[in-house]
Amino acid sequence: MKLTICHLYPDLLDLYGDRGNILTLAARSRWRGIETVLQKISLGEQPDYENMDILFIGGGSDREQRLLTEDLQKHERELRQAIADGLVLLAICGGYQLLGQYYQLTDGQRIPGLGILDLWTIAAEQRCIGNVVVRLAETLRAEMLEQAAAPGTAAPLDTLVGFENHSGQTYLGDGLRPLGKILTGHGNNGADGCEGMRYKNVFGTYLHGPLLPKNPHLADLLLALAWRRKGLDWEFPSLDDRWEKLAHTTIVKRVAPG
Ligand code: GLN
Repeated sequence: MKLTICHLYPDLLDLYGDRGNILTLAARSRWRGIETVLQKISLGEQPDYENMDILFIGGGSDREQRLLTEDLQKHERELRQAIADGLVLLAICGGYQLLGQYYQLTDGQRIPGLGILDLWTIAAEQRCIGNVVVRLAETLRAEMLEQAAAPGTAAPLDTLVGFENHSGQTYLGDGLRPLGKILTGHGNNGADGCEGMRYKNVFGTYLHGPLLPKNPHLADLLLALAWRRKGLDWEFPSLDDRWEKLAHTTIVKRVAPG
């Protein structure tokens, strides 16, 4: 049994090590004896949404977001259906913004998003840059605990760590839940204390870094959701995450010591 991961616009949306998220998903699968197939889809190409397990969309500059917006609209119908069917999707920063209604630039122009998720983004003059620590939402943490519940497994971390660099301020409509509350940094908009978004199996976040190597609990949740969606009744083996957890807790201690 194989896991298919698709990287959308790898040549345009891949900032601050975003590709490391895919390497992490592939490595954590391989360590459990699961082979992964990576598909790279860029301008003019059509992904096979029905036969993919995880879709990844990274971050990009305003220029790159603008370059691909017309092409992206061609994906709208199939991607909307795939999300409704439970496709596991991780979208970072610029990719996260493009799932929503629009991204309004400082000059008032709007880059249209896919409009699949009820969120919108407005650029501020001042960029949000720096390290971020997020306290995970209880519901998300409960899901992580459930999938890591093999006997002898240590409780997963209860924070996310990463690096943000965006001018967009994102606002969530009713029905979208944030990934958690900001302990350090700005997150979605620097005002409501929330970071990221969860809808069905879609995860949007401003965290680069890359995100998943230092947040193995989130990587495993994505993998577990993808496996479950394939209908596999499989006890998810835990991995030795001492280095990943050390990297994570070192950042927490450094930037959010409280
Ligand atoms: N261009 C977008 C912004 O500045 C996204 C940036 C990013 O993906 N890091 O908000």
